[in-house]
Amino acid sequence: MGDQQVPFASSRAPELLMNVQWIHGTARRDRSGEPAIQAHGVDPHTVILRQSKCLSHEAPFMYLLFGNERAVLFDTGATADPASFPLRATVDELMANWLAEHPRAHYELLVAHSHGHNDHVAADGQFLDRPATTIVNRELDAVQRYFGFTAWPAQIVTLDLGGRVLEITGTPGHHRAAITVYDPWSGFLLTGDTVLPGRLYAFDYPAFLESLERMVELVRGRAVSYVLGCHIEMTSIGGQDYPLGTRYQPDERPLQMTVAQLFEVQRAARSVADRRGPSRFDDFIIYNEPRLRDQLGLLSRGLLHRALPRRTNH
Ligand SMILES: [Zn+2]
Repeated sequence: MGDQQVPFASSRAPELLMNVQWIHGTARRDRSGEPAIQAHGVDPHTVILRQSKCLSHEAPFMYLLFGNERAVLFDTGATADPASFPLRATVDELMANWLAEHPRAHYELLVAHSHGHNDHVAADGQFLDRPATTIVNRELDAVQRYFGFTAWPAQIVTLDLGGRVLEITGTPGHHRAAITVYDPWSGFLLTGDTVLPGRLYAFDYPAFLESLERMVELVRGRAVSYVLGCHIEMTSIGGQDYPLGTRYQPDERPLQMTVAQLFEVQRAARSVADRRGPSRFDDFIIYNEPRLRDQLGLLSRGLLHRALPRRTNH
């Protein structure tokens, strides 16, 4: 019997289950805790994972996409230790389940990153001894080499998972090796930490602006369902974020953003190109080349928040 092929190339996901209650940390007096990782299947071939805020206040999201020949995992979270953060075991189980439904003689895993910051690469080591697995190093030269960039960052390259052909472009600004990924099957635009419902740290503002221009350009020619980043930091109240370091976010926004919100990020980013430091908008906060004092302000607000447990949200 030949491997049964999923028609990724000729069709789109018929349904995306985006209405999910993410784990979001626990109140201090609640000792029941929450799982270290939540894995949510948005369709049979697409899984979004979130790391618990109890393990890392960053609580990053990760994306596992299945193709006919291999799966790709974008990001490995903020914790290395497999005992407290069993990412490898979780991914192994998800892959075993998928392969039980779609049996194949051979199937591979690619581990890559939205960008190279520590809260997105920490568990890479858990995959080092995994059979049939490739790990793309976080450094810029390794990213360019693996994906085949010859004209970084503006080029659009493809990554074929077996019928499911992702399009990838370079989007530096938050991080020099940051990429944005378009998946035609789900319509997802995976934007890493460059665009998300939270604090957009643009350490290289000209590069950040150019990356946003290219994201908008990319979206115009394609059917995008959702724009998905790697953190949630905004509360449900317009313009209000949780302080840096928050471990409990009962009133956080949904992860997914719309294409209109991406356009809004671009418009807002242009409008504050000459204003260094933080600028607050309803759905995100732009940090234009944050200075030391902006970072100290964030830290002190976070420390104050932790010293005053009764002020739970803001
Ligand atoms: Zn991050």
